[in-house]
Amino acid sequence: MTEYNGKSVYGGIAIGRIHILAKSEQRIVRYKIEDSEAEIQRFETARKEAQNQLAGLYDKAITEVGEASAAIFEIHQMMLDDDDYLNSIKNIIEEQGVNAEYAVGVTADNFAEIFASMDDAYMKERAADVKDISERIVKVLTNADSAQLTSEEPVIILADDLAPSETVQLDKNLVLSFVTVHGSTNSHTAILARTMNIPALIGVNIELSPELEGKLAVVDGFNGKIYLEPDSETLSQMEQRRDDELEKQRLLQELKGRENVTKDGQSVLVYANIGNVKDLAYVLKNDAGGIGLFRSEFIYLESSTYPTEEEQFQIYKKAAETMAGKRVIIRTLDIGADKQAGYFDLDKEENPAMGLRAIRICLTRPEIFKTQLRALYRASNYGRLAIMYPMITSLEEVQKIKAISAEVRAELDENGIPYNKIEEGIMIETPAAVMMSDLLAKEVDFFSIGTNDLSQYTMAIDRQNPKLDEFFNPHHEAVLRMIEMVCQNAHRENIWVGICGELGADLELTERFLRMGIDELSVSPSCVLPLRNKIRSLDLGK
Ligand code: PEP
Ligand code: MG
Repeated sequence: MTEYNGKSVYGGIAIGRIHILAKSEQRIVRYKIEDSEAEIQRFETARKEAQNQLAGLYDKAITEVGEASAAIFEIHQMMLDDDDYLNSIKNIIEEQGVNAEYAVGVTADNFAEIFASMDDAYMKERAADVKDISERIVKVLTNADSAQLTSEEPVIILADDLAPSETVQLDKNLVLSFVTVHGSTNSHTAILARTMNIPALIGVNIELSPELEGKLAVVDGFNGKIYLEPDSETLSQMEQRRDDELEKQRLLQELKGRENVTKDGQSVLVYANIGNVKDLAYVLKNDAGGIGLFRSEFIYLESSTYPTEEEQFQIYKKAAETMAGKRVIIRTLDIGADKQAGYFDLDKEENPAMGLRAIRICLTRPEIFKTQLRALYRASNYGRLAIMYPMITSLEEVQKIKAISAEVRAELDENGIPYNKIEEGIMIETPAAVMMSDLLAKEVDFFSIGTNDLSQYTMAIDRQNPKLDEFFNPHHEAVLRMIEMVCQNAHRENIWVGICGELGADLELTERFLRMGIDELSVSPSCVLPLRNKIRSLDLGK
């Protein structure tokens, strides 16, 4: 048995086999190997597979686009036979005793640099080609093309890190737990684990060597540990703990259908956050009173091109119908920062969290925004939809949004397309929005406080950077005072205010939020019943 420590981002016990999830754009991991002969053989097998792929691509290109365009695949095949290139890789494996992926990666960087520094234009171009062929071999070595789950039984996912665009592709029924080497507490992998009610660990210092694939493991999300090949005593202890946990969850089920009301009669709305219509099942299972945040950008992340108005309409309609008259708050796309979709063709930014993201993209590319708004308005006929706009910093932005949304309504009217009146609210997730909340409250129907971003911008702590976890104080008084200020400003204008960031589920703060007068808490589906339990135990009169 080997034991590793990490940071738990969601509790629970998972017992199952390991599946290493290779990334599509693999960050190459270096690890030591014992048998360099066998590793060179592994490289050779991958090289042959890459050659076969290129031969297939050459034949396909010849018939589809002609000889001239197909020639590049022939050049790539020749490069894969180049002695200098091959010797360099084999030498690194042998001399340094390291894995093939690493040797290929280093060779690619070295050769690309040499080519790029040459005067000859033809040779310069070969820099990109050497990277390309090397990536192909690394993909074969790491199975990266099959980043999908192929296993039939649910598995513990082990990965270097997981981007939202990767987690969206996973079949959630096959995931028992997420364990990553990198990642941070507020990452979307952590949020996904909370939605799915499965344990997740980040910052686990484990080498992702292929031998781990299929090994039995136990993830203890309560203590931030993973046991590889657990001994029988640990296994039976963990099985007991898992069964106790299931019993606790069963007891929580008895709270279904009960009100979210304190002993002294103060009630609060408890809604759920989702990223996908598939999550609706979790919402119903956990008896949430509505959807407080539908992260619509996941529709864009799952797609290889801009989702059409009709595709979006069907999704929003389904959410509205399924929730049967309960409020469904759909946030307009919050793409950018850690949530990147290639087809948006966004420039690489020095500081993406503060870059062209969310509402800023919508306001600079109104055609994308209007498509989404049309779909939302059309879906409003099927339930109680509300729209929420992310990353607001000023009154002017809200006015621009309102003008665009009025244009969309006018177009729908012109075409005789019916829609219902929709509540329109904004996320308060920047310090600027907090400071302007007295004026913003006059413009919108509700506020929803995004504590994930509000915390990062207030404390100047990148939510994606695990090295900053020790500086991150989730209960920082600055953030709590901001929440209180927003509450007061909302109520002065008679609009309701909720929290949809992760802090809403923090049971240590529930009492304080209720005393501030928060009207709604929107949390991951698995946190709905524990939160209800907490609310029902409070007596604010005391
Ligand atoms: C937030 O910032 O608190 C929030 C709810 O939005 P996201 O986590 O999707 O940025
Ligand atoms: Mg946010």
